[in-house]
Amino acid sequence: MEIIAEQLINLPWIELVKVEGVNPLHIYARSKKERVCIHCQSKRLHIKDFKERQIRHENISFREVFLKIEARKFKCLECGKFFWERFDGILPHNNKTEAFRKQIAHQAFRGVTKKDIAKDYDIGEATAYRYFLEELLIKSKQRSGYQCPKVLGIDEHFFTKKKGYATTFCDLSRNKVFDVVLGRSEKALEVYLRKLEHRDKVKVVVIDLSQTYRSIVEKYFPNAKIVSDRFHVIRLINIHFLKFWKDLDPVGSKNRGLLSLIRRHEKNLTKEQKQKIEKYFKQYPELKAVYLFKQKLCRLLLIKHRTAKQCKNLIPVFLKYIKQLKESMLDSMVTLGNTLDSWSEEVVRMWRFSKSNGITEGFHNKMKMLVRRAYGLLSLSFDAIPKFVPY
Ligand SMILES: [Zn+2]
Repeated sequence: MEIIAEQLINLPWIELVKVEGVNPLHIYARSKKERVCIHCQSKRLHIKDFKERQIRHENISFREVFLKIEARKFKCLECGKFFWERFDGILPHNNKTEAFRKQIAHQAFRGVTKKDIAKDYDIGEATAYRYFLEELLIKSKQRSGYQCPKVLGIDEHFFTKKKGYATTFCDLSRNKVFDVVLGRSEKALEVYLRKLEHRDKVKVVVIDLSQTYRSIVEKYFPNAKIVSDRFHVIRLINIHFLKFWKDLDPVGSKNRGLLSLIRRHEKNLTKEQKQKIEKYFKQYPELKAVYLFKQKLCRLLLIKHRTAKQCKNLIPVFLKYIKQLKESMLDSMVTLGNTLDSWSEEVVRMWRFSKSNGITEGFHNKMKMLVRRAYGLLSLSFDAIPKFVPY
């Protein structure tokens, strides 16, 4: 009986004490492994203290499993040092087994959204997402080299408070994330980039408007054309527009109802909602002008799948908009104009191209965008382009 239970738990060192409950299942256990000092490997140890560690373990057929492990504190009689015993498959100070984290990551790889994972396993969405990234990191470390995709997407993601940012590498022609590397500076990515095989075969790299990524691409992907990420460009425009609005009317720009209407894509507005915006704009005619301009600019930049000839006709329109921004005498609009100017080539290439790191683009607030981006990343492991449920 005990052997069957141990096989189910699948942690070779475990010695069962008792099992309680059905769902959740509480498994009381201790380690049967012989302990040696973690400092000097001596076997002459004295037990000084006990505590019970509650650890979440992988689900057994949809039932939640918690291990209640008796952990011991030892004093080494050889070197005199104290230490708490450690368990294979459980990291120190962690209340989830590695098997559990793998189970979560596996769900994510299969394309289950982090929202569903969070619900099924009763954990936070951010946690589910982090396990997924961690698993990707482990896989990337196990690989010695990787053949670059022809269409590469490079994007940064917030990882954890401790580890900061991570850079994801996507194969955009197959809509798959193929690697995650800790850090987002050239120094942090250098070792990884050097071991990438066939970098010279990369034709297109999609990045956000980051100077760091631009110089990385120029250095490591000599034959690639840089295309700016549509999702980030639209977001940048919206950020500058909101900044302008905030400077103009700090109170009105904080009104949630108004904010949600003005952020919304014009085609998603009802007649009443349009009237409400119009009424507000009567107080601020200059805001209306900038709003309409912003809509025009976004419409232009959302164009895709154009031929080279069609693009040639669009370029003067874009350059005219940039000029208008730079001459507007409005701080945030001038800044936007300068940024778009320095990225104009990369932005213009978006018209010929349909891929985006964010997969979806639109006029959402920053929070929703971040959630959706994370959401998109999880679903990216699908072979087919995932269908999104719109907000
Ligand atoms: Zn010792």
